[in-house]
Amino acid sequence: MGDKTSFWLEDWTGLGRLEGRFHRMYNLSRNKYAAIHEIGEWRGGEWTWRLKWRRELKGREELWWQELLQAEEVELDPGVDFRLIWASLAPSNVKAFVWRLMLNRVQTKTNLRRRHAIRDDQSLACAFCQHQDETSDHLFCSCAVSMETWRAVLRWFGVSTALPARVKALFVQFPVFGRGNSQKVALVTVWMATCWSLWLFRNCIIFDHGALDAGQVLDLIQVRTWHWIKAKQVNFRNSLYEWKMCPMACLESL
Ligand SMILES: [Zn+2]
Repeated sequence: MGDKTSFWLEDWTGLGRLEGRFHRMYNLSRNKYAAIHEIGEWRGGEWTWRLKWRRELKGREELWWQELLQAEEVELDPGVDFRLIWASLAPSNVKAFVWRLMLNRVQTKTNLRRRHAIRDDQSLACAFCQHQDETSDHLFCSCAVSMETWRAVLRWFGVSTALPARVKALFVQFPVFGRGNSQKVALVTVWMATCWSLWLFRNCIIFDHGALDAGQVLDLIQVRTWHWIKAKQVNFRNSLYEWKMCPMACLESL
C-alpha cells in the first residue's frame, strides 16, 4: 500500500501541521517522517498510535502528548476500519478530507455554526436540497440529492442495496462488495471519490452558483477513480471506457 501521508508534516487533521503545533514533541519524535498507517493501528477496538520518542517523556511533555492525542481524538466505532482510508488509492488531500469527515470536522454549515464561524442569522440550509440543516450525515448521505448520486454509483457497480443515513455506516457497507484486500481498497477509493466529488459540487453551488447533476457527478467519480487506481496499481490496465462499462470486471485484475 503506497500511502505516504505524513503524521507530522501534512495537515491531515484540519488543525494545521502537527509538527508546527507541537514542535517540542516533533523534535523528540523518532518517527519524524512516518506515514500515518505506519504508526497507527487498531488494538482491541481502539485506534492506537505507536510513536517512539528519543527518550522517556516527562513532566509537561506528557501533557503535550495528551493534548496532541486530543487534537486527533477519533470517536471510534470499532466496526469501522479507518486504515482503509490511508490504504486507499486516493491522493493525500482526499484522504485527509475523508479522515476529517469521519471526525466530523469537515466545514459544513452546522460545524461552522458550532465554531461561531457563521452568524446566527445565516442559513444552515443544505446546499443541495435547501430543506434540512447541513450536517455531515445529511450532506453526504441522507440528502435526497446525494442519495441520487450514491444510487448511481451503486448501479454502476451493479449493486442494489438499502442506503444507510450515516456516513460511517455507508463507509462500512462499501468494501463488502469486494473480494480480497485489493478490491476492497479500490472500492473504498470509489467511496472516497464519491464523498470528495459531492463536496466539490457543494462548494461549486455555494461559491459559483452551480447545480448538482447526479449523472455529471458520476462521470467525474469514474474519471477520478480511473486515474487514481491506474496511478497506483500496475495491474490495472483497463481503459476508461471499460472502467465505466464494467467496473467489477476491471477489479478482477487486482
Ligand atoms: Zn439536502
